[in-house]
Amino acid sequence: MQSLHNLSLEELMQFLSKEGERPFRAKQIFHWIYECKVDHWEKMTDLSKNLRFRLKENFLISSISQRNIQESKDEETTKFLWELSDGKLVESVLICSEKRRTVCVSSQVGCPARCAFCASGQEGLMRNLTAVEIFEQVYQIDKFLHLKGERVSHVVFMGMGEPFENYDNVLKAVYLLHDTLRLNLSQRRITVSTVGVVEGIRRFTNENLQVNLVLSLHAPNQHLRKKIIPYARKYSLEDIIEAMVLFAKKSKRNITYEYTLIKGINDLPQHAEELGSLLKEQPCTVNLIPYNPVPGLRLQRPEKEMIENFRHILSSCGIVTTWRYTKGKDIAAACGQLALQERKHVDFVAS
Ligand code: SF4
Repeated sequence: MQSLHNLSLEELMQFLSKEGERPFRAKQIFHWIYECKVDHWEKMTDLSKNLRFRLKENFLISSISQRNIQESKDEETTKFLWELSDGKLVESVLICSEKRRTVCVSSQVGCPARCAFCASGQEGLMRNLTAVEIFEQVYQIDKFLHLKGERVSHVVFMGMGEPFENYDNVLKAVYLLHDTLRLNLSQRRITVSTVGVVEGIRRFTNENLQVNLVLSLHAPNQHLRKKIIPYARKYSLEDIIEAMVLFAKKSKRNITYEYTLIKGINDLPQHAEELGSLLKEQPCTVNLIPYNPVPGLRLQRPEKEMIENFRHILSSCGIVTTWRYTKGKDIAAACGQLALQERKHVDFVAS
């Protein structure tokens, strides 16, 4: 059965006309779903019983269901684990910071990039998410916030998966999020993060969207990058940077590079110096993310002094840096961690 989120207002009007209903009912239905966040046809009390029955027979309001939810002690981070219609698990994270309510969404089940530091990368790619499965992660969290009188303000594609390996569905999800009749999120408040799929960056540049693009860099040279991100073998660092610079030029925006600092691997002064010369004269910001340890991986977070020193070297090269402290450490908030734990639990129970 298809999800109602898949239908445009016009398509829903056509369905209603065929059912002998007045087309304006489509706006009523959209209002119930996207404004009132109603998740049962029975609750749409201004529709006839017969119409509610026909809608229930033809469409789903939810194609993902909540399997688990964990809130960090500081209540700033909430992690959601979703079960898809085929039983696969994905997760999203809600990060509350002052007035911002940011949702980090997954775009795939598992991930082909297999980053050495990431829980999602451990099992490789299982499948792409549909546009509706991506959209619904945000919709469901918006519904969760609705009960507190709040709403989602920002969306980042930084959960499980490489968004540009699922390009069409990610793009469609962006349009659903932006749709004024649905969540009405400004494109400027949506960010897509890639490990560097060059053709994806080029295609995205030509979409002429207002959506932000971030590159997960994690290393100052191709040799080290290939070790940290095995997927990086597919594209040269030179080509990736060139594509990002073109994106910045066309979109008239600064580039953001994400750099996860891992103790003894990519956090040394020579790495900072090499990164400084790689990015010099670029209109960019480097977002430094001290590694969030993942159980079962033997990687460590650098000491505070190493991070400060790394930052200092980049600043002396004229590069703007920010330091993103990983929130929600007590709830396994690194991407893919909760799904991995849950899968291991299921595997254990099943064996
Ligand atoms: S860090 Fe992101 S790109 Fe890398 S394996 Fe994890 S989900 Fe994939």
